[in-house]
Amino acid sequence: MIKLLCENTLEDLTEIVIGSGEPKYRAKQLMSHVTAYDSFDEYTDVPKKFITILKQTFCDRALTEIKRVTSSDGAIRYLFETVNGDLIESVYLPHDYGNSVCVSCQVGCGMGCVFCASGHYGLKRDLTAGEILSQVLYIARDRKECGGIDKIVMMGSGEPLANYENTLKFIRLVNSEHGLNIGMRSISVSTCGLPHNIKRLADDGISCTLSLSLHAATAEKRKKIMRIAERFSLRELADAMRYYFDKTGRRVIIEYILIGEFNDTPSDVRALKELLNGLCCHVNLIPLNPTDHCDLKPPGRKKAYKFCEDLKSTGISASVRRSMGSDVAGACGQLKNRTVESAAETKNNRNL
Ligand code: SAH
Repeated sequence: MIKLLCENTLEDLTEIVIGSGEPKYRAKQLMSHVTAYDSFDEYTDVPKKFITILKQTFCDRALTEIKRVTSSDGAIRYLFETVNGDLIESVYLPHDYGNSVCVSCQVGCGMGCVFCASGHYGLKRDLTAGEILSQVLYIARDRKECGGIDKIVMMGSGEPLANYENTLKFIRLVNSEHGLNIGMRSISVSTCGLPHNIKRLADDGISCTLSLSLHAATAEKRKKIMRIAERFSLRELADAMRYYFDKTGRRVIIEYILIGEFNDTPSDVRALKELLNGLCCHVNLIPLNPTDHCDLKPPGRKKAYKFCEDLKSTGISASVRRSMGSDVAGACGQLKNRTVESAAETKNNRNL
């Protein structure tokens, strides 16, 4: 696998520069080009001879844009091709209070949640830290005129805590004061719930926002929609969230997809209250985004807001989340799936 220059810290770059007999200050020059997602041609303050040496080991850019779809609310969904030909998606979300990028961390996903388009074709491979970072760097460059990137959410395709080392490295790189310098409070990691790695994140000194994709508050219901619930109990998850809060002081976010006639009843409110009681958290209620391969439906708008009010009346902080970009191929993984499927259809038609 080709190495990406952006995967290096300033300390790594300093070693590379000194090892090639170049002055130390070149490391900072390289860092600023990498952060700007420049191609080697744009490293005009770096001697050509040294660029030739760099090219023997490193690649300047990880991604090629294949397609983009812009939503009426300003969200942009990008479809990228990696150097080895895999397709991944990222989303740019502009807000009055700052711009976010939602990144993918794997090609496909192995978690098998029934409602999720990313996992429909299973896991192909982990993305490297540089490939995850490149999604942010590319979009930051592309959207430079719009004020840069303030927030990162790891909510694209893949399970960040099943690609632990690359997730950790990515967070450290994007948080670095020499790079994009995005604060821990402005980075969210969303997980379907791997308790040992939630704890490990806190032990590794990461204090970003932790979002737990809970989606059901009883083991029986969770097992119906999320395969991970067969491996870890709700108690283990609750313990890990408490551990994370105790170590980092960060309120945990609970993601709860509202699925009509499934997890939107008064008994679900009671189960949530019981599970989350005493945990410092906020519940994001997200009406399900229907996908091409699954029959589940969201509840009506009124029912979603009623669920939210009922939950709040038990003393749990909750809100209904507006889903941006749903008119540009909805939930994560769908743009890629539709692109791959329509390419396959075209190919099949050609073969007829
Ligand atoms: N694997 C991680 C991150 C990727 S999914 C996780 O499970 O959290 C990012 C978020 O989108 C998760 O909360 C996931 O449950 C949610 N999601 C996936 N498919 C969805 C759909 N069809 N409608 C609404 N949210 C969805």
